[in-house]
Parts: sequence; structure tokens; C-alpha cells
Amino acid sequence: MIDPDRFLRDLHKLRSFGASGVGKGVIRPAFSDADIAARKWLWEQFKNAGLEPHFDPTGNLFGLAEGPSVLLGSHSDSQPEGGWLDGALGVIAALEIARASDGGVSVVSFQDEEGRFGGLTGSAIWSGQQTLEQTDLFVDRQGVSFAQARAVLTDQMRDFVDPGRFTGFIEMHIEQGLTLDHSGQKIGVVSEIVGMRDLTITFQGQQNHAGTTQMHLRRDAFQALSAFNALLNERFAEVVTATTVWTIGHVKVSPNAASIVPGQVTFSVQWRDGSSSRLAQMEQIVRQAVADTADAYKMQVSIGAMVGLEPVAMNADIRQSLEASADKVVPDHWQTMPSGALHDATNVSHILPVAMLFVPSIGGISHDFAEDTAEQDLITGLKVLAGAVGVAN
Ligand SMILES: [Zn+2]
Repeated sequence: MIDPDRFLRDLHKLRSFGASGVGKGVIRPAFSDADIAARKWLWEQFKNAGLEPHFDPTGNLFGLAEGPSVLLGSHSDSQPEGGWLDGALGVIAALEIARASDGGVSVVSFQDEEGRFGGLTGSAIWSGQQTLEQTDLFVDRQGVSFAQARAVLTDQMRDFVDPGRFTGFIEMHIEQGLTLDHSGQKIGVVSEIVGMRDLTITFQGQQNHAGTTQMHLRRDAFQALSAFNALLNERFAEVVTATTVWTIGHVKVSPNAASIVPGQVTFSVQWRDGSSSRLAQMEQIVRQAVADTADAYKMQVSIGAMVGLEPVAMNADIRQSLEASADKVVPDHWQTMPSGALHDATNVSHILPVAMLFVPSIGGISHDFAEDTAEQDLITGLKVLAGAVGVAN
């Protein structure tokens, strides 16, 4: 039987490693002293729970159950200014559920999810998305390499864990957005982790004198961007859903002066959605809107290479057990929703069936010392996750 008080105590204990002194904030980037101390404490807890603690060469810390098991967890490193729940919630809930189970539940705390050396580093290497050799050359902002950073754990590191011993992976996480806070629901069962597309576009017009160049003779790149934005919003409206998002960013107007008609503008268009086909449809709209704007404003156009990530669908069976469990714990107070942020589950989906669930973030705030969730909501998440893997809740 899970023990909600013990779960909350452990969560607060983990917060004490790297406590910022501001609210419940933590400063615990991957391989910092606080992170190593937290991982060593977790190592002890895994051992006491009857799991076999196991550091792999990236610093990922597993607590392994004997025989086939379901893997639960998240990450315990933080942003340089982070909250106490981002990642930590999934790890400590997994620990409590493993303790309460009679076997069949393993736990993981992935390393460097928050990107001191790139982002989702530990799960990316474990799932074969990047090699350890490659990653060893990555450096943080101070010039410390991943190889140097992980050397502090060399003594304790063993081989990579064979994913074949796990039947699937479930990551519980705070939402880090406003969906649940606004809907008043207590649990979000994730339908998919959204995909993303990003294009860099340049409109080239004609730079000229802002006093002497008549309006009808101008080829003003800023005006072209402004018209493009309006056209894009109008055309996207026909294909998007309430969860589709898009952003024009990184705008560089040249020469960006009061008395010069701008001759060039470069900007990014990024869009995110849970459906690959909608992402593709939106790309066609972007390209057509660029062409139509260029025609109307006499611009030359260049478009950079597409950067993108595919959406990751959650495993239908695991998702169903999460939904059934949510239905028991908080009937009528849960919903399905996409994840707009990337998580370790994105990488793990390449090697295991994955699913995710969210609890509300107060005010939608995360990656900030102020990040928080009502303790009752944390306990609800714990109960739903326990129920989904057949542990008494
Ligand atoms: Zn996280």
C-alpha cells in the first residue's frame, strides 16, 4: 500500500539537495555537487526499497526490480534556477510505488534532462539517439565537458541497462502549463507529445530613403513580414485545433533604422501539433503564404532547411490503464491532453512503449523557483500512477 506521507517527506528531502533558499526552488544541474549528493541519496533509497541500484555510464540512476518490470521515473537534475517538482515528482512517486509493490516495478532518474550538456542527455544516449563518445565532447557554458563531468561517478558506473527487461515506461510530470490549472481538472493523461517544425525565412526587398521613396514604389521588408503574419493567422485558422501553437520569432529587420525603408527581414516560423499530417499541412500553408506575400510585396525569398521533431504517440494499452485508474481515483476530474514540452519519454519511446500523466502546475509556472503544485494534487497523481501499474492505492 502506498504511503502518501512518506512520499511527500521524500519529495521534500530531495528538495533539500540544492535548495535555493527562495521559496521551494532548487539549484541542482546535472553533475553539480547537489545533483551527485541527491543521486547518492536516491541510490540508498532504491537499495532500501529492495531494488538493485545501478548507475549507467551517463549517470542515469536505475533502481532495478528482479525479473521483468515496468519502468517508472523521470529526472532529478534541475534547471540552473529550477523548481522542486520538475522531474523530481516522477522519480519520488516511482520510488514510493516500487516500495509498495511486491516486485515488478523499477525506477529511473535520468541524467541531464534539463540540458547542461544539450538536453534529455541521459535518455538520448540510453535510447540510442546519440552516442556516449559524441556526447563526451559536449561542453557546458563554463567549458566543462560531459566526459569530465561524468568522471566524478566513474567508480560507481556500470554498463547500460538492457531495455529488454522492461515492459514499458511511464513518466509522471508536472504539467508546466495552464491547461489543468484553468480547467480545474486534477490529472491529465497525455495523448501524445507534440511534434515541431521550424523554418527560417528571409524576405529581401529594397533598402531606401524613408523620406523620398513613395509608398507605391517601396519594397519594404517589414511591411511584407507584417502582411505575412496576418495571412498566416488567417489561413492557419482553417486547419488548427485548440492545442496547435505557432510562433514567429528571432526577427531581424535590416537595417532597423527610423529613416530607412527596411530592405531585408529574417525570421523563424515555428509550429507545434500532435499530428504529423497537420504539421505537414501547416508547412504547405507557410510556404504558400510566403510565396503569395513575396508576389504582393515584390520580395525575393529564401527559406532555410526544415528543422523538426515528429510527434510521439503514447502507447494505447498503458494509456488506457492510466485512464481507468484516473476514473477510479478522480472520476470526472481528469482529462486527456497533449504534452507541449519534450520529456525523457520522447527518447524512451524509441525503445519501449511509453505513456505519461500530468498533475496541475499552480499558475502554469515552471523552470522558476516559484514552481509549485498543491500537495493534494501530488498525492492524486501518485494514486493514479500506482493504480495504473496494479499497486494498491
Ligand atoms: Zn522535467
